[in-house]
Amino acid sequence: MAGIYVHIPFCASRCSYCDFYSTLRLNEVGEAYVEALITEAQLRKDELQGEKVKTLYLGGGTPSQLPVSLLSRLLNGLSKIFDLNGVEECTVEANPDDVSPEWCAALPSLGVNRVSMGVQSFEDDILRNIGRRHTASQVMESVSHLRQSGITNISIDLIYGLPGQTLASWTDSVNRAISLEPSHISAYGLTYEPGTRMWHQRERGEITEVPEEQCLEMCMILVERLKDAGFEHYEISNFALPGFRSRHNSSYWNDTPYLGLGAAAHSFDGQVRRVNPPDLAGYIAALQIGKTCFEEECMMRWERYDERVMLGLRTSDGVDAERLRKDFGEDAWRHFVREAQPHIDNGHLRLVDNSRYVLTDKGIMLSDAVIRDLMWDM
Ligand code: SF4
Repeated sequence: MAGIYVHIPFCASRCSYCDFYSTLRLNEVGEAYVEALITEAQLRKDELQGEKVKTLYLGGGTPSQLPVSLLSRLLNGLSKIFDLNGVEECTVEANPDDVSPEWCAALPSLGVNRVSMGVQSFEDDILRNIGRRHTASQVMESVSHLRQSGITNISIDLIYGLPGQTLASWTDSVNRAISLEPSHISAYGLTYEPGTRMWHQRERGEITEVPEEQCLEMCMILVERLKDAGFEHYEISNFALPGFRSRHNSSYWNDTPYLGLGAAAHSFDGQVRRVNPPDLAGYIAALQIGKTCFEEECMMRWERYDERVMLGLRTSDGVDAERLRKDFGEDAWRHFVREAQPHIDNGHLRLVDNSRYVLTDKGIMLSDAVIRDLMWDM
């Protein structure tokens, strides 16, 4: 089985915390970009080596910025290149202010059965301050439009640790997210990425960072509230109602091959990683003359080990030490088991079925430190 990721690098404006690759050039190059995506799919279809495509994910940027005509051109184009009849999950990321009744109505006939919405917060002041264009009431409306058009598999993204957020306001945002009855919630702690507007605001002292202990408390509130509401905490930042884990994202965590199309998209065919440059003009120009533009990333054994450990520990399935031994050898296995033992002793990790090492609730709060300890010692 395999997945396809399509990067849509267009946003209506830039949010102050974001360092994802995106541009404001949809009107100028949207059509040429969609044509380039279809050409790239045609040129690279064999990288999936005949594996059945099970998931399709349009991420960004802001895929909901694509007008329905271009979204339809893209998905119909892909369906002529790949057999998409077996796709179980087709997700489009959306911003609430783009989710109109017309947009929603077009989704089911295009095969879209899941929408992931960048909500981030239910506080209008905070949304405005971080450069989001929507309001909390637009979130409510967009969920209702989606449901009316038959899209019931809805995921909501939230961010904690935003400047101005308090424990009370964060709890309120979590409660309001739950009250919308999404099937999935992703929640990330804010990071100040160098070069972003928010990073400069902090440098100039214009905003105050939420203290780390308070962020930890926000994380604990999130975990408790979502558990009480019946969500399974299946990955550090991801929570799902039973049966609603993100299949596409889960495939990143368990080495399933995926083809990433578009500027800045990553691919993995089971052996090799390929990365398209974050350069919209260069990407379109290359595809217009029938050339792909990815670079191959040759990963050393220890880099693959680190990635396996890091991604595995983030999930509730943990890291299977026996599989680690089979894939990376006796020395890697010995290193992992030796470094994991103190964390078993102090309750950060637990051993399941004698082979799988899984972070405990206490360990999740300290995950960066635990993962760092288990990395390969160079
Ligand atoms: S957070 Fe989303 S909408 Fe905002 S700039 Fe980044 S990609 Fe665009």
